[in-house]
Amino acid sequence: MIQVNRSGEVWVFAEQREGDLEDVAIELLSKGRELADQLGVKLAAVLLGDKKAEGLTEKLGHFGADKVYLVVNPLLEHYQTNSYTKVIHDLIHKYEPQVFLCGATVCGRDLAPRVASATKAGLTADCTDLQIGDHEIRRTGEVHKDLLFQIRPAFGGNIIATIINYDRWPQMATVREGVMPMPEPDGNRKVEVVRDEAHLGTQDLALEIINQHIEEKKVNLKGARVIVTGGAGVGSKANFKKIWDLAHCLGAAPGATRAAVDLGFIDHDHQIGQTGTTVRPSLYIAVGVSGAVQHVAGMSDSKKIIAINKDPNAPIFKVAHYKIVGDLNQVVPRMIDSIREKV
Ligand code: FAD
Repeated sequence: MIQVNRSGEVWVFAEQREGDLEDVAIELLSKGRELADQLGVKLAAVLLGDKKAEGLTEKLGHFGADKVYLVVNPLLEHYQTNSYTKVIHDLIHKYEPQVFLCGATVCGRDLAPRVASATKAGLTADCTDLQIGDHEIRRTGEVHKDLLFQIRPAFGGNIIATIINYDRWPQMATVREGVMPMPEPDGNRKVEVVRDEAHLGTQDLALEIINQHIEEKKVNLKGARVIVTGGAGVGSKANFKKIWDLAHCLGAAPGATRAAVDLGFIDHDHQIGQTGTTVRPSLYIAVGVSGAVQHVAGMSDSKKIIAINKDPNAPIFKVAHYKIVGDLNQVVPRMIDSIREKV
């Protein structure tokens, strides 16, 4: 267990694959920058990999890191639980950060609990927001200042919980992809690189990777400027063609609610919400979507939201900027015709 170190840095795990930085690492740097500034400490990225990773240090600086802890070793070429945990555990013991953040990706969801367990720290998974604040322990009246508030939906999304660890550090959280905004890079920012060693042997690699097959997602929802989402109200897979058509004529990505996915209207890659992708496009069109909290959690940061629903009391209208009360089977074809007339 490491000591509570109030001057400790804020750390972000710089997840990379084959020398390409994952977007979530950049998103975390944007939030991490905010937290580090509030705490008056440095923001550092933790970058592990083989030689291919080395080229990423500058980029991490451009996106907000003051420092990069860089550990390069051929045994770190591919992510593996034991080797990555060991190296990060050693770094944490040596440098004592106060906050350590990972993306809630497949890799981050595997790594963070192992690191938390090895360092005997607490961990909150799948956060949707992080803030700095003070907390009073009611029992003792003790006030803990400048803690990391780890905020996430709980009980199926019906409440938003704020979780703290005041006595087991570093304060650790994984953060959902797409939740934090992507910062603009600043090419003038310089970064300090701290090289460290990996004390690893082949015994630390439980797996031998013989072959890799990377399955690409069928749709890039996170990068889409316009999204047209269909819900269970669309009624059938055949009728979902209306969603594809509207998306197509707007150059938009087709999204879906979990109900639409469960009903087999469209593939899970298109799901938006708490257990799908979090999006923040310029325009979000929700068609036959009721607006359940678990769905809204993944799209409410869209700049403009248009909702089409036949129920005037549908909760989606609470987050919509433009409301169309009507039958989607009439509204959507009219929208398509009118867009096609104009282009
Ligand atoms: P419904 O709630 O059935 O709504 C259909 C809507 O269509 C209604 O409002 C209806 O008025 C309207 N409608 C019907 N016919 C028409 C018509 N002809 N014209 C216009 N409107 C019409 N959901 C997600 O979406 N994403 C998630 O990631 C997600 N994660 C979840 C995680 C957990 C732990 C749990 C418990 C649930 C999760 N859900 C998620 C499910 C969520 O609670 C809702 O069940 C789901 O979002 C409902 O989808 P829907 O709006 O398509 O369907």
